[in-house]
Parts: sequence; C-alpha cells; structure tokens
Amino acid sequence: MSKNREIAEIFENMADMLSIADENPFKIRAYKKAAVNILELREAIEDASARGELTQIPGVGKDLADKIREYVETGRMKEYERLQENIPLDTVDLLRIPGLGPKTLSLLFKGLGIRNAADLEKALDGPEILEFKGMGPKKIEDIRRGIALLRKSKERSRLGVVLPIGESLVEAVSRIPRTEGAILAGSLRRMRETVKDIDVLTISDNPPEVVEAFTSLRPEKDVLASGGTKGSVILQEGIQADLRVVGPESYGAALLYFTGSKAHNVRLRGLAQKKGLKINEYGVFRGDAMIAGETERGIYETLGLPFIPPELREDRGEIEAAMEGRLPDLIDLADIRGDLHTHTTWSDGKATIAQMADAAEGLGYEYIAITDHSPSQTIAKGLPIERLLEKKKELAEEAGKRKRIKVLMGTEVDIKMDGTLDYPDEILKGLDVVVASVHSGFKMDRDAMTNRIISAIRNPYVHAIGHPTGRLINEREPYDVDIDLVIGAAAEYGKALEVNGSYPRLDLNDLHVRKAVDAGVKIIISTDAHSTAQLLFMRYGVGTARRGWVEKKDVLNALPFGELYEWLKSGRG
Ligand SMILES: [Zn+2]
Ligand SMILES: [Zn+2]
Repeated sequence: MSKNREIAEIFENMADMLSIADENPFKIRAYKKAAVNILELREAIEDASARGELTQIPGVGKDLADKIREYVETGRMKEYERLQENIPLDTVDLLRIPGLGPKTLSLLFKGLGIRNAADLEKALDGPEILEFKGMGPKKIEDIRRGIALLRKSKERSRLGVVLPIGESLVEAVSRIPRTEGAILAGSLRRMRETVKDIDVLTISDNPPEVVEAFTSLRPEKDVLASGGTKGSVILQEGIQADLRVVGPESYGAALLYFTGSKAHNVRLRGLAQKKGLKINEYGVFRGDAMIAGETERGIYETLGLPFIPPELREDRGEIEAAMEGRLPDLIDLADIRGDLHTHTTWSDGKATIAQMADAAEGLGYEYIAITDHSPSQTIAKGLPIERLLEKKKELAEEAGKRKRIKVLMGTEVDIKMDGTLDYPDEILKGLDVVVASVHSGFKMDRDAMTNRIISAIRNPYVHAIGHPTGRLINEREPYDVDIDLVIGAAAEYGKALEVNGSYPRLDLNDLHVRKAVDAGVKIIISTDAHSTAQLLFMRYGVGTARRGWVEKKDVLNALPFGELYEWLKSGRG
C-alpha cells in the first residue's frame, strides 16, 4: 500500500526526537504538521512525488519534500537514521508514559543518559532523580506505573483476552451519535492468535466529534493521539486501540486496508496495477475516477476476485485460490453441533455434568462429551478406575433424563512417557469418546516425543489427540515433536487431531491444522472447557481452524449425532 502512513510516522518520530534533543520548536512543529497533512492526503504520496508536486502538500517545504522523495525512491531516510543514532526509538517510546513530557525526558536524557524503559526504571530508584524539577515521590510512582503500562502495551496479547475488549469497544463506538457500521479491523478480525492492538473502523459525516467522543469513552485510559479522522488510546487493560472514521464511500477500502495483512494487501495492489487500477485506503481508482470503495466485496470484484474471508488474508495462497475459484468453504461457528473435550467437578472442572450439559443445550448443541482427566493427573484430580465407573453411572443417569442433547461418556487420557495410555484398553473400550493428551515429560527429545504420540494414535480406542503440541501462548513453547509425522500417522490410522479452542492453547495452530486437513485428517474443534463459560471458547477454535482453511466436511463435531456416533464406533472392532 502507499507509504503515506510510514512517512507520517517517521515525521512524527523525528519531531519527538528533535524535542528530546531540545531543538528549535519551529522545526519540531513543521514535522508534526507535515505528518498530519500526509495522513490526510487523498492519494498515495508516491504519486505526488512522481509528479514533483510534494510541496503542494500543506506544510511540506522543499526540505521535507526532498526527504519524502528520498524515502519513496530508496526506502530510507538518512536524516531519520542519523537522528536514531543519538536518540533511539526506545527513547521516543518513553514519551507515551503519561506525565513524562518532552521537556522532562530531554533533561533525563541529557542529565542521566536515560535511553529506554530499563534505564528509566533504574534511575527512579536512585537519589539523583529527585534533583530534577517536578520529581516527587508521587510523580515517580506515576512514571513507574506508566512504564509497566508501556511494557504491557508493547507485548502482543492473546486473542481471547483482546477480542472481548474489542467487541465492547465496537459496541461503545456504535452508540456514539452519527456513527454507522462500527467494526473491528486488524489482526483481531483475522483472528490471529495474538494481537498487538485493537483497530476499530466506523462511518460518520462528523469525524472530529466522533474521535473526540472515542477518546473520552472511558476515563481511565490514556489518549495517545486525537484529531482529524483518527484517535488512539491506551485502554486500562494496557492495550492500544485505534479508531478511524471514514465516509461511506471509502468504508470497504478502509476496512480492507486496516484489516490487512500487509502481505495480502501488497498482492492486491499488484493485481490492481496490472489492470491499470490503483488501490488505497480510500478506494479503487482508474485514473482519477473512483470505481469502488464502499464494500470489500466490490473492491475484490474490480480485481476479478470473489470475497476473501479475513482469516485467509495472509498471502498464503488465498489469492491464487480465489483466482482459480477454489477458495475453501470455511467452517462456521454455526456449523458446530457439539463439544467433544470438556471437564467437570469429577476432575478439575468447576461445573457438574448436569451444569455442563445444560449450558451445552443452551448453545443449541446436539451433543457434549465429558472428558475428565485420567489418574496420572493427580493435581487435576484425574479419575482412578473405580471413580471413572462411578462417574459413568452418574453420567448415564444425567444422559437418560435429556431429550435434546446426547451426553457422551469420555476421557482425556494421559499419554504416558512410554507411549502407553493411563487406562487399560478394556476401560477405554467402554467409553464413547477418548481424547489422548500429553501432560507430562515435556522435555523429551524429538524422536521420543513423536513416537510417544504416535503410539497413542495406534491404540484402537483412541479417537483424537488433544492439544497435539502442548504449547501455551506467551507462556510455554511447544514440546519438541515432529508434527508432520504425527499428521501422517493420524491420516494412516484414521484418527482425528484436535484444534483446542482454549485461547492460551489454540493447538493445533493455523499452519498445522492446514497441513492436517491437506493430509486428509479429520479435525475436532473443542474448548477443553473447565467451566460452563469456557464452552464459549469454541469461537477461538473455529477462528484458528478457519485460518487453517478448514471446511465443514473436515470437522467431526460438525456432523449430526448419528454420523458422529458411527465414526466414533468405527474401527473399534
Ligand atoms: Zn489436556
Ligand atoms: Zn482437557
């Protein structure tokens, strides 16, 4: 896409660097002003540059025009790089700390050599800091909290943490007067497993007022930027949220642009160029005439493509598939007919069998499998055989009472270090659903771990492997396993692999699940719910599956009960 945003950001950073260096205020203001005007430019800045008309942009004189041209032509700006040698971007970032203005930061930078958050944190503990004007214990405490907030906002957060926040934000924006069509964009809309920030887009004929209302929605958040058609805040949760306000004629173009991914958008722009068209965040143009922009569908149409679902927009072959009319018919949340991996108070869950079944009924499911842990999981209160049999009785009673939903007796059985299972075959044989998982001995070497899991796949009573790589997003790396061999074995033995929808897991991940369906492996999308509320994690599992090009026909728990039951019984002798 056009370099407008990049260049505006560079100028903003340069302004900040100059202010930390305590440079001429006029120079600083010039960069800031140019940044704002470049953002509001109605065309790609490359085009203005090619025509030699950069100085017609308000606030852009000969000096800045030269810098823009240099960047457009070479992808670099020497002056920017030179400034960074003295004042790194980490220092500029410190300006996001509430209460730390350029004046103070400039003094700390020069006086104590503070260049990043770690330097600043250390300085806050020392005596010298109190010598600086305005630095009392309260101010120091505020800055300390600001550093924590800054750090938090810099991490990528897990999908399941951010999506609900994003949705509530969208709802709040939709209640601002004179807005329409508020929607999430960015990686959140693409259901990436982690996201950096929240992008919200809305339509209005009065952008400044909407931006103003947005930045004052909740008192506890910090406003990073506000003005024109864009507002940026850091929510109290430490996540940055950006709102963009557009006119209806550009809604689809802006949605496409801000949904990304960048790689996908670059490909679209290339296709457009071949057709003599130009795409930017405002629309699709032939010469000066705008020929699309209102809807994403309309924009894809001008390129001769069908609508491409956001989860596929990663430049992983979706453009080629769209051109050849072979985009997958992705699984939908509404296709899901039941949950095949859940826990109850019999092991480490918080709800009873009856409560879980009620909740599943409430979701309109046809079936739910209760799969508590096996005895090795002592901390998770895994069930010894006698307890398992007791549970089976209670479950049969519960199941007998219900007409609308089938309650299936299952287990999440541990795969032990040697690849054997935590219950004997005679026991597994009597259960409706057997999910086998690794919960211990994560440090095994690759061959041993791979063989361990494949042994479980070979057991005739195992239906599926649960969370096949064992990773916990932002917490624990996957164990070392050759996932290709696991997928191959699952295909060979007709076993399913799980997409665990619990958002810290999302395991298989998008790339692995795509390999699995390509190999013809059936998928179960489960929540691993340990409470009734966690049954709602299904959407994260479905989102991950969609990113992995999974279709309804690949998913066992999209089958009606009769067909699922047949599959569960097949191959068990
Ligand atoms: Zn598990
Ligand atoms: Zn589980």
